[in-house]
Amino acid sequence: MDFIFECEVNMKCSSCDRQAIITRKQAGVSLCSEHFIDYFERTVYETIASTRMIEEHDRIAVAVSGGKDSTALLFSLHKILKGRDVKMVAITVDEGIRGYRDDTIRAARDIAGKLNVEHHIVSFREEYGYSLDQMVIGKNVAPCTFCGVFRKHALNRAAKRLGADEVATGHNLDDEAQTVMMNYLKGDYERLMRFRPSRIQKGLVPRIKPLRAMPEKEIALYCMVNGIFAESRECPYADLSLRADVRDMMNALESQFPGTKQSTVLGFEEIAKRERGMWTQMDLEECRVCGEPCVNGRCKACELLEQLGAVALPG
Ligand SMILES: [Zn+2]
Ligand SMILES: [Zn+2]
Repeated sequence: MDFIFECEVNMKCSSCDRQAIITRKQAGVSLCSEHFIDYFERTVYETIASTRMIEEHDRIAVAVSGGKDSTALLFSLHKILKGRDVKMVAITVDEGIRGYRDDTIRAARDIAGKLNVEHHIVSFREEYGYSLDQMVIGKNVAPCTFCGVFRKHALNRAAKRLGADEVATGHNLDDEAQTVMMNYLKGDYERLMRFRPSRIQKGLVPRIKPLRAMPEKEIALYCMVNGIFAESRECPYADLSLRADVRDMMNALESQFPGTKQSTVLGFEEIAKRERGMWTQMDLEECRVCGEPCVNGRCKACELLEQLGAVALPG
């Protein structure tokens, strides 16, 4: 291996004699590329196994944006589930973000093709009549709100069309810690609890996050050592959200106090476990316009579409 990611030169792997490429400060171990890949895939496997995310005969829709997280997700799942009776299909949602999406869609198509995984592209433009760029033009709204609502909506509909048992997304430890922290900061208990739903809802394909224990940096490294991803580009809208500030804050804390992100998530898991008995998970209804699950008669996507002056969605 001709690069060292984050550790000192001449640092040996804790499991063999080779040069280490990363020191995992929190665990106090250094790993060479081979042992890093082992550790990575074992952790992903344990995440899947401990929560029974995936069962035999399942059909998994993997959300592949073409970024490093979802690329690592598809690649590692493909390897871990090899030989099992599990079928994978890749879904890419094309939000329609100029100067950003085209490259990542190509990357998604490449990785799916390389692994021989069936690939489907769902675009905002075809599903809703507008690209994300068109939706937010001249409006004083956070693009991430629109994007998040429609992406979830489109992904769920596509997963149902494809007969998927679950949707796997590339959310990592950083994303999880950010979401928990954002909900703390906003004091949003309902949303915080919904982050770990206790049961399956009708019409909603269960979402699983096999990479949720993996730090973003290690995912980047996993892509590098496997030669599956060359460039990382950030969504041009990313800086406009609270999440960006929370991310910077969590990164600063993590570098000063390694383990902060993990303890943020573990602390929340503990709260969620204790609160579960007290919190009644709302029953979702069917949206009267599009039939997707929602809380009060009409889903958020249809509500936003009406604001945009669009015609009703076909069911
Ligand atoms: Zn080693
Ligand atoms: Zn709807």
